[in-house]
Amino acid sequence: MKNFRELIDNYEVAVYPKRDLVIVKGKDATVWDENGKEFIDCAAGIGVATIGHSNPELVKAITKQAETLITNACVFYNDTRALLLEKLNEITPSNLKRSFLTNSGTEAMEAAIKFTRVSTGKTDFITTVNSFHGRTMGALSGTYKEEYRTPFEPLVPGFTFVPFNNLEKMEEAITPKTAGIILEVIQGEGGINIASQKYLEGVRSLCDKNNVLLIIDEIQSGFCRTGKMFAINHFGIEADIITVAKGIAGGFPMGAAICSDKVKIGFGQHGTTFGGNPLASAAGLAAITFMQKANLAKQAKEKGDYFVSKLNVDELSKVREVRHKGLMIGIELKEKVQPILQQLMEENILAMPAGKIVLRMLPPAVITYEQLDKVAEVLNRILK
Ligand SMILES: *Cc1c(COP(=O)(O)O)cnc(C)c1O
Repeated sequence: MKNFRELIDNYEVAVYPKRDLVIVKGKDATVWDENGKEFIDCAAGIGVATIGHSNPELVKAITKQAETLITNACVFYNDTRALLLEKLNEITPSNLKRSFLTNSGTEAMEAAIKFTRVSTGKTDFITTVNSFHGRTMGALSGTYKEEYRTPFEPLVPGFTFVPFNNLEKMEEAITPKTAGIILEVIQGEGGINIASQKYLEGVRSLCDKNNVLLIIDEIQSGFCRTGKMFAINHFGIEADIITVAKGIAGGFPMGAAICSDKVKIGFGQHGTTFGGNPLASAAGLAAITFMQKANLAKQAKEKGDYFVSKLNVDELSKVREVRHKGLMIGIELKEKVQPILQQLMEENILAMPAGKIVLRMLPPAVITYEQLDKVAEVLNRILK
């Protein structure tokens, strides 16, 4: 067998430090390494495989579409894209009507930023401390972490950061130039921080008062992850644009900026070669249809609550706090998370960090109760 580690270490642009594991296969919430060793996957490709790895409905849809038509630019109409757009319209809050389909989360953010500038005639954006919105220049300009941003300056001008969940600071930051506020209602990378109802209602009314668009980044929190189709459904607030990606197509690369009619953009003002291609559209359609059929949001809620109830939080001396909505789970530690991730891997469990001290778990919502029991048992042991 070839040495896959060596090939990747030699030939891949090294932007990610690697964990010592070659993953070659997945099914539902289980993945296997090259030697056939089995792992419970609470990483799910960074919260992507919400419907489970190699979901059979998804595989069937991709296979059928691949045999029929793989590419078709949005200058033409297409049957599969039409059905996906209809499906997105069906599952999103009723004020969100039109989608711009992309290939990733960061592209959805770029679209949202451009749409907001052109629709409002204003230039500036407010985002929050510990936000993460992506790695391309626009999305990066709204991403908090300095080590992600500083080496690449100058970025897009006009971005300000204010503390999360602080309405006063948000109000103070609004100027006549503010075009949009960009928010994750549950910060993912930033440590699983959950916005309060009052905060979100306050931000919504600030937007209304100041003719500012509210862009909610649902890239990590969307598609059943938090126990509802979208995280904003928990709060009942309206967004003017939501951006989605990660779970949308069961692992097939896809994203979208889904817009209300406050977004006004003309022909030629934005575009994409691959966005909305039939293959991705078929994947998205199959993934969302599965979510509805399996009532995956309910599963995520019940399994998330079950899992957290199985943690003996009071006895876990290494734990400061557990925060979660559905299967978007953050365990804040009193120490560094990396050694804990290593220990978990030795126990055949894959999880992720969110910053330096938060253990983040975003398992497929098809994870079994036995698997959740196993993960809780191990955590109760190693976090004691
Ligand atoms: C992952 C993520 C992004 C970026 O998505 P990519 O597909 O990696 O470009 C943006 N926002 C949030 C909240 C994310 O979790």
